[in-house]
Amino acid sequence: MNIYDLYRNEDEYTGLNAEAAIRHLAGAIQINTTSYMDIEKIDYEAFDRLHERIKEWYPHIMEHAEFRRLDHSILIKITGSDPALKPALFMAHQDVVPVVKGTEEDWIHDPFSGDVADGYIWGRGALDIKEMLIGELESLEYLLANGKQFRRTLYLAFGQDEEVIGSGAIAIARYLKEHGVELEFVLDEGGRIENGKAYGADITVGSIGMYEKGYADLKLSAESFGGHSSNPFFGTSLGALAKAIAAIVDHPLDNVLPASLRETLRILAPYIKEGPLKEAVRDIDANEQQIIDHYLSHPELNNQIHTTIAPTMISGGSQAGNVMPQHMEAVINFRLAPQDTDAGLLEHCRKLAGKNAQAEFIVANEASRESRFDTLGFHALQNVLSHYFQDIVFVPSVNTTATDARSYEGICDCCMRFGPFLEDEEIKAKGVHGTNERISVRAYLQGIRVLIRMMDETC
Ligand SMILES: [Zn+2]
Repeated sequence: MNIYDLYRNEDEYTGLNAEAAIRHLAGAIQINTTSYMDIEKIDYEAFDRLHERIKEWYPHIMEHAEFRRLDHSILIKITGSDPALKPALFMAHQDVVPVVKGTEEDWIHDPFSGDVADGYIWGRGALDIKEMLIGELESLEYLLANGKQFRRTLYLAFGQDEEVIGSGAIAIARYLKEHGVELEFVLDEGGRIENGKAYGADITVGSIGMYEKGYADLKLSAESFGGHSSNPFFGTSLGALAKAIAAIVDHPLDNVLPASLRETLRILAPYIKEGPLKEAVRDIDANEQQIIDHYLSHPELNNQIHTTIAPTMISGGSQAGNVMPQHMEAVINFRLAPQDTDAGLLEHCRKLAGKNAQAEFIVANEASRESRFDTLGFHALQNVLSHYFQDIVFVPSVNTTATDARSYEGICDCCMRFGPFLEDEEIKAKGVHGTNERISVRAYLQGIRVLIRMMDETC
């Protein structure tokens, strides 16, 4: 699939100053707003510089909006004329992930060059997610410059630390809640484009994340005496740890089809041409187990319906074949489905580990609440995306990774995760958090068209 073949209506908004939009994204990439867990390493002056540029680049926004800083996060508000309408909020984050040490030389263009070459804008943040940050600003500026009168209040919210702890989004959501704001919808990064083959459908599926899975790291520790391996009468910590890991991996958690995935199947039903789902989706309730079996047998689908279990780290093994290890640890990473609580998961793992290992969480966050899709926000997004991308069927789905959007679920029942900058899958897979991150000018401008129309139609 060539993603650009799915673009349409690229000739709209001819008044959009593409040259300026590209220059602004390049300029934002040049400002190194890398996030680190160790906050001492963060260059907060870079965030200040980014804020100064934003004020320079967007005169109409600065004239019409309230520009508020919460620490280094930003909240921009355009007040609509109809206070009865709940506001809409468009999100992005200002920070980027570090360039992995030792990979600097592999970048064709320096990660903070913002070079524009070969039809791409290059650098860290080009896909995650400065294109959305600058794209939202360009869209709002365009509408204001063209005399748009907003009926619905519109917010832009840009957190400072999504890639580490997400405290910026939490602070913005808290500020809004304290001011009695309830949102009609939130649009954040995320979502994905998938080949419909896994469903037996000959179309492309655009999955809009209506909720996101949780995240937990579980530490398992095992002890043994160590000593000479010729007498392992009491076993070794490695053997015990291996038993505990195997017991947990061999006991998967429950599979559940949440409302969003049921709706996905309902929408896809007319497109499913072959395979076991074709008949099964006619009555989802009656054929639930068959549908679950189908999800479980497909690598693209299986992680959507349950908490995943991935042993990822092990340490403490002995340095010699004839020496038994003593203290050993392993980490299992879980991505929690909404049906599992962190307390329930811990109890489940402790029972399975038994006497072989101690189990405790290093970190544990449950899944977000599932958003509603029978909403103005979801229908508008579905329509606008379909206007700009053909042969893609947009459905409500799950985000299997974390975003900042969850922070808003206390003040919004429609938090959507979908970045409208549809780039080639391989460029995305390598570039996001990787090397040679870049976005094509076409993907960038088409994403801006989506945002302009989304803001214009809903606000
Ligand atoms: Zn991101």
